[in-house]
Amino acid sequence: MAIFLLDKPLFLHILTQLRNKDTDQIMFRKGMVRLGRLIGYEISNNLDLDIIQVTTPLGANVKGVVIKDLGNIMIINVLRAATPLVEGLLKAFPAAKQGVIAASRRESESTSPPKEMEVDITYLKIPKISKEDIVIIADPMIATASTMLKVLNRVTELSPKRIIIASIISSEYGINRIMKKFSFIDIFTVSIDPEINNSGYIIPGLGDAGDRSFG
Ligand code: URA
Repeated sequence: MAIFLLDKPLFLHILTQLRNKDTDQIMFRKGMVRLGRLIGYEISNNLDLDIIQVTTPLGANVKGVVIKDLGNIMIINVLRAATPLVEGLLKAFPAAKQGVIAASRRESESTSPPKEMEVDITYLKIPKISKEDIVIIADPMIATASTMLKVLNRVTELSPKRIIIASIISSEYGINRIMKKFSFIDIFTVSIDPEINNSGYIIPGLGDAGDRSFG
């Protein structure tokens, strides 16, 4: 498993807007879309490529690059919070197939941070996955990773070529949980935050990504 920490200034600039409690719904969603596009480009830079030769209109032969997996991308939208992130990812992968999973955490206040949370998957529709497919699971916030582990259980059964998680903020705890069970998965994330509070929210985090995008 590789962790790709996307901490270049433009990523952090947009992340800072998302973390700011004064950022309104429209700007929050726009920030998510922008980060989705940027994360998509970073993922593209980590796909297999072939060196080919092409002829230009001037009759000159030149070596070039083909990222063959750009035609084999499937994006899974973990509803509802991932929707703006997926909108951005689709700008980087316009030909992607799309799956959706509706998963909701059963949230409750406790006296200590939860180690895992009950997750209900109420809807799941994933197009046929082939052995050549690169599956990108989009979920902006990975806290205890309980939702992601459930999604991964389903997706790994379908044996794609590669599974990548696209996230905005992941907790250290959630990443470690995923790593223990699915050591072959890659995670692209803009920040790794240190804590989870007693209600299962990432600290410092950005709040509830679904509520901030959609009210
Ligand atoms: N989901 C969110 O939207 N925010 C968190 O902090 C954790 C999970």
